[in-house]
Amino acid sequence: MLIAGNWKMNTDLPGGLALARALAAGVQEAGEEAFADVDLAVCPPYVHLSGIADVLADVPVAVGAQNVHAEEEGAYTGEISAAMLTSAGCTHVIVGHSERREAFGETDADVRAKIVQARSHGLVPILCVGETIEQRRAGNAAAVVRRQLDGALDGVDVDTADDLIVAYEPIWAIGTGETATPEQAQEMHALIRRDLTDRFGDPAADVEILYGGSMKRHNAAGLLRQPDVTGGLVGGASLTADHFLDIARHAAAQVPA
Ligand code: PEP
Repeated sequence: MLIAGNWKMNTDLPGGLALARALAAGVQEAGEEAFADVDLAVCPPYVHLSGIADVLADVPVAVGAQNVHAEEEGAYTGEISAAMLTSAGCTHVIVGHSERREAFGETDADVRAKIVQARSHGLVPILCVGETIEQRRAGNAAAVVRRQLDGALDGVDVDTADDLIVAYEPIWAIGTGETATPEQAQEMHALIRRDLTDRFGDPAADVEILYGGSMKRHNAAGLLRQPDVTGGLVGGASLTADHFLDIARHAAAQVPA
């Protein structure tokens, strides 16, 4: 199980550090056992990363970025490289978020190049896939997700379950308060699991497949109870430490003792 927070373009630096401190305090207060079987991660804005990595250094909360450039270095004004992320304390990076695909024109080929680059620096990519409401209504959701997996993963090696994380994020559920039903989520997660297994064999059985799209503390349990939903990518609710940790508690409750 993994619960990862995507802070998007929210919080200024003092606010971000305060949120990270609240998370660290919450994890410490909960005690070692509370989240022993759940991995936690936060993906703050770039400028917060190294400060937040320092704040979280003594608690088991990983730090990830929300994007990465596919090239090693060079004349790419405004971009951030994988080496910059690792040197700032990142272990994870979100790639292919629908907001980047929609607002910044990222293609599957771009997403694939970012995955390769992230992996070459030891960063674990959190690959986001998901359909629009029109695609779902037209009965094309599965085909869209399969195509996104193909485009992003063709030629990529996954040797262990730690090489990749996938997040199923139906676009119609992101930031809308509308959530996929547990059954809709399970159906798509099972499809993703099959696709990964066909592609990568045994290691795919344990690749984390997160659900994202208005996961909140009141609906997390039903989603996380599904066999192929092994965590959450949480946007809005990750901006409040208590809400994020309540979702993590629901995840912990799903892990067999
Ligand atoms: C996201 O942006 O990845 C996300 C899931 O956002 P929200 O939880 O706010 O829908």
